[in-house]
Amino acid sequence: MATIGLRAGALRVSRDASVAIDQFGLGAATDVRAYFCTHAHADHVVGLDRRDWAPSRAGAKIYCTETTREVLVRRRPKLARFARALTANEPHAIRVTPTTTITVTLLDAGHCPGSAMVLIEGECGRVLHTGDFRREDVQTRDALPACVTRAPIDALLLDNTYAHPKCVFVDRETATEEIVRLCREHGDRPIALGVDALGKEDLVAAVSEAVGYPVEVSDDRIVPSEYLKYVAGTKACESERFIRRSENLKLEESMRTNIRCVPKQRVRRGTLRELCAGLRNEDAVPLAILPTGWSSLTDHADPVEDENGRIVGVSYSLHAPYNELEAFVRAVRPGVVIGNTRVNADAEESYDPAIHFADLCTGEVSDRAVAMAKFEREHVPKIEQDGVVDRILKVMLDVNNVEVVAPKVRDKPAVRLAAAENGVVFEPPRGLTRRERHRRQKAEWDLGSQRVLDMITSFSNKPVDDNAPTPPAKKQRNFAPGFML
Ligand SMILES: [Zn+2]
Repeated sequence: MATIGLRAGALRVSRDASVAIDQFGLGAATDVRAYFCTHAHADHVVGLDRRDWAPSRAGAKIYCTETTREVLVRRRPKLARFARALTANEPHAIRVTPTTTITVTLLDAGHCPGSAMVLIEGECGRVLHTGDFRREDVQTRDALPACVTRAPIDALLLDNTYAHPKCVFVDRETATEEIVRLCREHGDRPIALGVDALGKEDLVAAVSEAVGYPVEVSDDRIVPSEYLKYVAGTKACESERFIRRSENLKLEESMRTNIRCVPKQRVRRGTLRELCAGLRNEDAVPLAILPTGWSSLTDHADPVEDENGRIVGVSYSLHAPYNELEAFVRAVRPGVVIGNTRVNADAEESYDPAIHFADLCTGEVSDRAVAMAKFEREHVPKIEQDGVVDRILKVMLDVNNVEVVAPKVRDKPAVRLAAAENGVVFEPPRGLTRRERHRRQKAEWDLGSQRVLDMITSFSNKPVDDNAPTPPAKKQRNFAPGFML
């Protein structure tokens, strides 16, 4: 069995240590000695709340950005002792065992507040893990930070949420303009903006700036401190961007905001009236806006509207679409590329970047990375014989008895098909049974991992195609709107 990439749980960084990225609760029996959290979305902290896992017992620290640490600790105060914030864009030497030190650099992933890509350098070679990411401004090699380009990247672990050619949509600036237009046009109606518990703050702030009054957020929403100064206090506000629900409802109806952030999975035609209760103009026909990349995959040009309201999908996404992924892989020129996100497992087509972007990889992997992959290949079955393999891993091995184990990663929390009745579908249809899905996942995983292994061990010397057309440079963009800088 070979543990290739983080979908199998851990990344081996030396002969005596592994690290885990966005995976917790791997068990004390593994040799994971450091944990990294790319951002605080629920599907990236899987295992963190498991009772049978604690960083103290695992003997590990959790490394992340300052903002991610703030969110993690605010939700789980017990983590304060174990979560370490690393300054972004600076290399940090982390000693994970007495004989193993790795160099780690966190880079802005442009996904949500605090999100980071993780560059790991050490005995394992150079591995770049994007986490969930979207950097519209990093589409050429020149735009990449020097730490990425100064030497070849052996393996790129890429956010493959939209790694299919059909997933192409506009950048966030354009999508924001569309959402702002809708909010301005429908100022006489209550508006529900479907967003996650963390993320899209800059969209909300941009809407607020455009309409000239705050947008309501729930009282328990965690607003990272970088945005706190834009939250309204007890007095009615002119300039703040967010107002807590309880504060909004204290105001006279005519003074309230008519725009409210709501959990996107709750947005459906039958609930719009309820979701918009208490907003200014609450008696008017409600409008819901769902910013998500999936909306680009369906024709929603003419959504149904009746007395219950109307739901409009706009392709504003925190994940890079296919065209941006392709440009990013072309810019990074990794030895191999591996998907780090397991989504769309029941989709008809493959979302495996190892298939779509194989031509953009050099196929050249450093001797260190090859040695580590070979060691891993031989090492894991030996651990299994010793009976100390992680419990999850063991179950998977017993059941499947295969070389490459399907990783134990929970599916992303689904974006509900809430608006399907409007002809707006936000995730691919679920047509397969669990067993079929599992079989398909495993087959795809086997295929992709085998291809990666083959690439790593074939020592092919395919030259980089320097003549390949480079997409035009995109304008630089900051991830906080201009008025916040
Ligand atoms: Zn995320």
